Amino acid sequence: MWDTKMIIDCHGHYTTEPDQLKDYRRAQLESLANDPSLPLSRADLNITDDEIRASLEPNQIRLQRERGIDLTLFSPRAAGMGHHLGTQQSADYWAEACNNMIRRICDLYPHHFAPVCQLPQYPGVEPKNCITELERCVNEMGFVGCNVNPDPSGAMWTDPPITDKWWYPLWEKMEELAVPAMLHVSGSCNPNFHPTGAHYLNGDTAVFMQLLKGDLFRDFPTLKFIIPHGGGAVPYHWGRYRGLAQDMGKPTLDEHLLRNVYFDTCVYHQAGIDCMTRVIPSKNILFASEIVGAVRGIDPETGHNYDDTRRYIDATPNLSDVEREAVFGENAKQVFTRLNDQVLEATPT
Ligand SMILES: [Zn+2]
Repeated sequence: MWDTKMIIDCHGHYTTEPDQLKDYRRAQLESLANDPSLPLSRADLNITDDEIRASLEPNQIRLQRERGIDLTLFSPRAAGMGHHLGTQQSADYWAEACNNMIRRICDLYPHHFAPVCQLPQYPGVEPKNCITELERCVNEMGFVGCNVNPDPSGAMWTDPPITDKWWYPLWEKMEELAVPAMLHVSGSCNPNFHPTGAHYLNGDTAVFMQLLKGDLFRDFPTLKFIIPHGGGAVPYHWGRYRGLAQDMGKPTLDEHLLRNVYFDTCVYHQAGIDCMTRVIPSKNILFASEIVGAVRGIDPETGHNYDDTRRYIDATPNLSDVEREAVFGENAKQVFTRLNDQVLEATPT
């Protein structure tokens, strides 16, 4: 294993949640389906600390130990956000319940997890509606980042692009709070797009092109976005994007986007990571594996889990020692500036 200071996984979800959390959501959506006029209730979950420990110890925490990951930036299950389901009020209550659960996890395991929140987005509702929950999470509960769904309609893409003024109040608040966002879609209600195999990667690719076409960072120079899943098709098609920027009279991608946009390493084979580390500057790459996530099996070609991304970063010939250290941890500290001394000092290296 490569000797590094600290390994921060910037992309992990609570995909092993106790049944009570899923039951709350199911009951909420069933109630709305039966009678939308019935009042909804906030979550009052009877989940013990031991149940939370039992959901994490054999899963995320075991994998962290096996793979030498020091800290995971941890958020609610992405496919579970389901912004296209229910109503605005159910989205509010659901985000609140999921974020409170993440806070409990980080209180139980401050050395393993730092909190990243889900927002109560809803298709057709202005993103400024999410500011109250974002402020609650960051100011009252110490969250260090948020997941923003660029397509709350669930693969129908009915809301404006993220460069539209529609989104501006949320971007203003994120700048003010100094929290970055991972631009992460949720489930798909469009059968043309498999959630993790197509909708996720389409979303990653779509938001990069939206940013390329727009000039968002002229208005928000300190806003920071992470594009997950290795940036979708972007690194593989870097030449196309450089050429499109050139044809549109934009500055180079370095100047136009790479002061504000980062890519994670949730790419599940060596050749993919080699491509990414060859074309994307190392300062823009954050280590991530999305455990326990989209692909859980073992690659028969290597004998290791597909999502054991540390192996690919260790093995790629395209990073110097200093660059590798930056990808593994230093870059995340620069992007998630609220991962302050309190979190990092609590974490044994
Ligand atoms: Zn994810």
